[in-house]
Amino acid sequence: MKNIIKVVMKMFVKEIIEIKKPTFSFEIFPPKSGGNLESIYGTVDALASLMPDFISVTYGAGGSSRENTVEIASVIQNKYNIPTLAHLTCVGSTKDQMDNILKELDEKGVKNILALRGDLNELSTLGDFKYASDLISYIKNKYHFNIVSACYPEKHLEAYSIVEDLKHLRSKVDSGTDMLVSQLFFDNQAFYNFAEKARSIGINVPIVAGIMPITSSKQIERMVSLCGATVPESVQRFIRAYGHNSMAIKEAGIAYATRQIIDLLASGVDGIHLYTMNQADIAKRIAENIRGILYALRVKRE
Ligand code: FAD
Repeated sequence: MKNIIKVVMKMFVKEIIEIKKPTFSFEIFPPKSGGNLESIYGTVDALASLMPDFISVTYGAGGSSRENTVEIASVIQNKYNIPTLAHLTCVGSTKDQMDNILKELDEKGVKNILALRGDLNELSTLGDFKYASDLISYIKNKYHFNIVSACYPEKHLEAYSIVEDLKHLRSKVDSGTDMLVSQLFFDNQAFYNFAEKARSIGINVPIVAGIMPITSSKQIERMVSLCGATVPESVQRFIRAYGHNSMAIKEAGIAYATRQIIDLLASGVDGIHLYTMNQADIAKRIAENIRGILYALRVKRE
């Protein structure tokens, strides 16, 4: 056993997409401040067995949850040997603080950063970076990471129009974005319309679709109020019919997310990023549903 050389998967997302397109990946979030860090590794154990192409780790509003992002990203990268995408936000961050985090991620072999502005509330201040594009340029000029940025098929809530939002998205790409991951959406047509408009203004980096399975009516209400995604009539109907029963709504949510993903894959999407909400059982069901399809697409590509 001693002579076996461990191949460490320190890959950039650009290379992963090139080799694996369409990719299948997961998002997890660190436990809330004061929460048990060990609990997340049970989730990562289960997700790792599904062999995702990469795992992203979100970045909280402050305090220990931020340190946890670095710690968890490092463990996924080095212990599980899965390429990792660490989220970072501008909110409340000076250049010095950002440098400390970036240096630590670099030392730990994390190669990919999802550079975000972060959500603002009455208590938050922005620090040295106003928009995600400022953070992207800063990282690209000083470090050797691949940069992923967020995009919004139904526009960002603060943007006046999709045209204005796309103009800002183009600036993020011009600042050094290597790949985009979309906000969640329930209407695939919204994603297709957005991707077509993005391509028409010269946004040529891969666009990975963010999919969140519906698991309860409360969760969906919260997400929609946070991001403004349209909930199609067919989804509203199953929430009304099954929302009272946690098992039934989960089943319907898994089936709907699976259908969305199958349609996106058939349309040639660059990848699927599953917002797991740390629920590995749901991710597992969806991964099993699409395993054969992903395999067939990859074989066809070769
Ligand atoms: P930006 O790209 O800076 O855009 C913010 C707004 O400003 C948009 O309306 C845009 O149109 C506008 N804008 C951009 N540039 C300019 C300019 N030059 N002049 C005028 N207006 C401009 N939040 C977290 O806190 N932690 C996370 O881990 C996290 N992960 C996420 C992952 C994904 C895939 C997505 C889609 C979102 C995530 N978020 C996360 C939420 C994100 O922080 C918010 O949506 C935030 O409000 C916007 O971030 P952004 O990077 O898209 O901002």
